[in-house]
Amino acid sequence: MEIKEPKIELNLTNNNYSNKENIYIKLNEENNIKNKEKPKLKKHGNLYLFCYNSNKTPKIVIGPDWIFFIIGFLFIIIYSFIITFILFYYSSIYSKIIGLILTILQILFYILSFLINPGVQLKKPKKDDLKTPKCIYSGVIKYIGIGQIHCEQCDACIIGYDHHCPWTGKCIGEGNKNYFRLFIIFTFLNFAYMMVIISLFLEKI
Ligand SMILES: [Zn+2]
Ligand SMILES: [Zn+2]
Repeated sequence: MEIKEPKIELNLTNNNYSNKENIYIKLNEENNIKNKEKPKLKKHGNLYLFCYNSNKTPKIVIGPDWIFFIIGFLFIIIYSFIITFILFYYSSIYSKIIGLILTILQILFYILSFLINPGVQLKKPKKDDLKTPKCIYSGVIKYIGIGQIHCEQCDACIIGYDHHCPWTGKCIGEGNKNYFRLFIIFTFLNFAYMMVIISLFLEKI
């Protein structure tokens, strides 16, 4: 006997359908549940996780304060490009290029600090394993001696925790601290450069 496409009405009203159809419906239901259990986006604490590698460690982590990042991002874009293109209109092409490179690098490292996983890992000890230390809040394995701290705002354990930075939307930890440092360096360089350009511009007037 061939397996026919089962109908929902059949399932609800007709209790006398054959065993084969019954199994077919069961398998279909199980597949639907499995598909529903595989979301692309995963929420861990107050964090949104994307792009898992083979160790199930997320590469991209968006924090709870993402709105601050958008405000900071727009602020950098507006002040940088207004100064670069309006004020620099009176300066040489080289100073425009340097200003543009510094701004692009500042924005690039800002975006990377916002996106890269700061040190979230999801490994939990097995149920019968009582010896492995675990975080009392998130239940993940607690590694001793590497500065793993549970952040209250992110509600997640961060390996190599440095601080919670609302301007990057989340914590600064082992994974994104170098990008954050580069962002700070280029922010400072960009500001210093703009100050020099503005003072030169004012001298000319
Ligand atoms: Zn934790
Ligand atoms: Zn945090």
